[in-house]
Amino acid sequence: MKIQSLRGMHDLLPENSAIWQYLEKTVADVLSRYSYKEIRFPILEQTELFKRSVGEATDIVEKEMYTFEDRNGDQLSLRPEGTAGCVRACTEHGLLHNQTQRLWYAGPMFRHERPQKGRQRQFHQIGVEAFGLNGPDIDAELLLLTANLWKTLKIDGVVTLQINSLGTSTDRANYRDKLVGYLMAHRDNLDEDSQRRLETNPMRILDSKNPDVQRIVDGAPKLIDFIDDDSRQHFEQLCGILDAAKITYEINPRLVRGLDYYSKTVFEWVTDSLGAQGTICAGGRYDGLVEQLGGKPCPGVGFAMGIERLVLLLDELKVVPDSVGQTVDIYLLAVGEVSNAAAVLADNLRNQCPNLRIESHCGGGSFKSQIKKADKSGATVALILGEQEAASSTVGVKYLRQEHTQETVVQDNLANLLNDFFTN
Ligand code: ATP
Ligand code: MG
Repeated sequence: MKIQSLRGMHDLLPENSAIWQYLEKTVADVLSRYSYKEIRFPILEQTELFKRSVGEATDIVEKEMYTFEDRNGDQLSLRPEGTAGCVRACTEHGLLHNQTQRLWYAGPMFRHERPQKGRQRQFHQIGVEAFGLNGPDIDAELLLLTANLWKTLKIDGVVTLQINSLGTSTDRANYRDKLVGYLMAHRDNLDEDSQRRLETNPMRILDSKNPDVQRIVDGAPKLIDFIDDDSRQHFEQLCGILDAAKITYEINPRLVRGLDYYSKTVFEWVTDSLGAQGTICAGGRYDGLVEQLGGKPCPGVGFAMGIERLVLLLDELKVVPDSVGQTVDIYLLAVGEVSNAAAVLADNLRNQCPNLRIESHCGGGSFKSQIKKADKSGATVALILGEQEAASSTVGVKYLRQEHTQETVVQDNLANLLNDFFTN
């Protein structure tokens, strides 16, 4: 019996890797233009890290983590998200002491959820975190940065921004009582999941996807009416910056996010173009988290975007530039006994034309079979090296995508000719 991949854990095949690289590179470029630096930290951490940050009563910690005991008897978990590990790494290396940090990371996350379109058990995020900054200006910077990214990716027409404020933990405790009071009166009309959450994590009922529950929630007291003056001012200033920058947003009082560590600003970028799994990017402010994980108090704000959902969206909207799928510029044919000359020619060219992607034909075969491969590779130019060309230090140049007669060129002149052709 063949061994298969795990459910909800997918291979990225070569035909799809170009679009992933395009997305990752575009994001990395935008982030560097905002002066964010990359940080990398392990995929495996102590389970306790996630319990203390994400929260014991959250879906993630309660039922979604891949947790096991290692050979030393330590409780470890595959990371379900990146913020906890990022904060752990920054604190451990003293990066949050009297300084600010603008950071990003990318990589796999693991959650034992029910796999479906846009929802996997191993999925990938690019996360961004800013530390040491209290004000709404940095919240706004993150939102402007993402808006800029959507524009660069040409998906800005189908995504909308939702924001809310969660206030302080005291505000939320007060609100929680009011909310539970209200929901108790409607207990019998709530679904089973929500009834359970009424005891464990009532705020999560607010973002229930069940329309019957949503109708009840519509009449519930709103958290934003319970936040303190500081949080209110922070929120108003954030809205002011977004208005000034002409970023359209919707205030969604039901937006509470699924992790415990958020305070003040929370937000999600959502789309209608992907069906049920419509959140492509989500985050918020977490001013208490660093201290909660044993560091000196340090404000933080960040977000994570789901790569798989973004790739689905790019595919759906057909906005990936044509050049992305094209990975070969030049295909070098080696016809006859010319392996020595072909190897030398290909390597010289790669040195002289470092921007061109050259595929050397290996394995022999007729001219006809090789030229077929050249065409299939997507190359624009085929170089033909036969025994006669090798003997005279020339090469045949055949243009595969345009009307242009084949020519014979002295090898010494080839690099100039190709550099000219591909830059024009
Ligand atoms: P959702 O409500 O869709 O479950 P979430 O609130 O659990 O999202 P976050 O923890 O905020 O998600 O993660 C940020 C982003 O990571 C999401 O907006 C989504 O794009 C992506 N994401 C989260 N879980 C998955 C998953 N299981 N498979 C694929 N992408 C995911
Ligand atoms: Mg989730």
